[in-house]
Amino acid sequence: SLGCVYLRTVIAIATASQKGGVGKTTLCINLAYSLARRGWNTLLVDTDPQGGVGLSLARSTKAKQGFYDFLTGEKNFNKLVLSTRLPELQILPAGQYDACARQGWSPAEVPARLADLLRAAELRGVDCLIIDTAAGLNGMSESVVKACDYVILPQQAEPLAVRSVPHMLETLSRFRAEGAGVKVAGILLTMVMGENQISQKVVAELRALLPADLMFEQSIPRMGSFLEASAMGVPVALIKRNPPPEALIFDQIAAEIEQRTGLLQEREASDNH
Ligand code: ADP
Ligand code: MG
Repeated sequence: SLGCVYLRTVIAIATASQKGGVGKTTLCINLAYSLARRGWNTLLVDTDPQGGVGLSLARSTKAKQGFYDFLTGEKNFNKLVLSTRLPELQILPAGQYDACARQGWSPAEVPARLADLLRAAELRGVDCLIIDTAAGLNGMSESVVKACDYVILPQQAEPLAVRSVPHMLETLSRFRAEGAGVKVAGILLTMVMGENQISQKVVAELRALLPADLMFEQSIPRMGSFLEASAMGVPVALIKRNPPPEALIFDQIAAEIEQRTGLLQEREASDNH
């Protein structure tokens, strides 16, 4: 029988980018919010030491501890998780990177601690984790991506993309060759300027270069409201009393994520039990 085989049902989705400033954190906050609004128990995790992801969403901002504290093996996971106004959305902030770095952790232990984190999230009833990372696919970001089921690759619509996207994909192939199970959920174009010819040319070139299903259909336009939302540390849906129309963009991306990852299948499977 398969009775003793541990099957993890929580789905961990990381985001990764070579460069900073591509809209990765903005994506994580808005996507986690949309997934939660669609009924998924979502945990937004910040692994960027310089992050501050979603702290304004949390009901209490007194929390000092988070992901890095969990990593050092000290703290109770349930005490580190912050609740938000949405019952389906919880946040694990980055926590005290400096204190934890001083205390030190062994890189060899990181994969096991990340596996513990996913298991602890699952025990809390989390359906999916959206994990923000620091730019680059090395160090902690590499370990985090390798521990996840899927990675979203946000990519700025600029000419360099035609070279950097294949490079990212090669790095992920290498991770898989090294035994990681992480799959690419897709390339998501960010900061797209609809009227801009260079931006449009890059989009066309990438679509020609990559397998058709590797790119998200929905892209993220460059818009002042996203800048405003991330300055406030909230999803764009919450900057005004009524969500602006562009908030729907993240519902589209969330719908694609449900299809591109095992999320929907997961719900169907558990409904049949
Ligand atoms: P990263 O996490 O990749 O470093 P951020 O999400 O922090 O990127 O975004 C970098 C900057 O660009 C921030 O000031 C943010 O407000 C802004 N920004 C992000 N997405 C957009 C967008 N779609 N349109 C306009 N500005 C954006
Ligand atoms: Mg960021």
